[in-house]
Amino acid sequence: MATTRAYLALGGNLGDVRQAFAVALDALRAHALVSVRQVSPIYRTPPWGVTDQPDFLNMAAEVDTSLSAHQLLDLCLEIERASGRVRDLRWGPRTIDLDIIAYGDEMIADERLTVPHPHAHERGFVLAPLADLAPDLHIAGTRVREWLAQADTSGLHRL
Ligand code: ATP
Ligand code: CA
Ligand code: CA
Repeated sequence: MATTRAYLALGGNLGDVRQAFAVALDALRAHALVSVRQVSPIYRTPPWGVTDQPDFLNMAAEVDTSLSAHQLLDLCLEIERASGRVRDLRWGPRTIDLDIIAYGDEMIADERLTVPHPHAHERGFVLAPLADLAPDLHIAGTRVREWLAQADTSGLHRL
């Protein structure tokens, strides 16, 4: 079956985030149409956007999937819901956030999904774990390693 290589960014800052990451990765691994190829180390990062909240943990995963991009998004949202995420404040605290950073080299922009993720290339906490997996991946016209070199990585710690 034809598969597409996709990159996911995981983040969270409420409750047992490591456990939430483990459960999320298990759910991805358990899915018949997803194979998890690589996972990055976990990083501890200061909060972004809404800064008055606990530090985040962040990581990235490389998957091959025969799901469409929108099906993969649905799976990500389902995994978030299963972890008990309550959607209230955008960029606010959450058990787990699963974003699709890239889906092959597809460019998608509709009301539900924008791929590559429009902010990935400006977020050190996305770029650092992603660079561990795919430094030469192109997003927004430039390699991940080059975006990372320009990004603010202050306060970012690989655990
Ligand atoms: P940000 O998108 O800035 O990282 P966020 O992750 O906190 O913010 P959410 O509340 O998790 O935002 O997601 C809001 C909506 O964003 C989702 O319901 C989804 O439909 C949409 N979305 C658009 N593009 C993507 C993507 N590449 N990955 C995940 N969700 C996306
Ligand atoms: Ca996000
Ligand atoms: Ca999200």
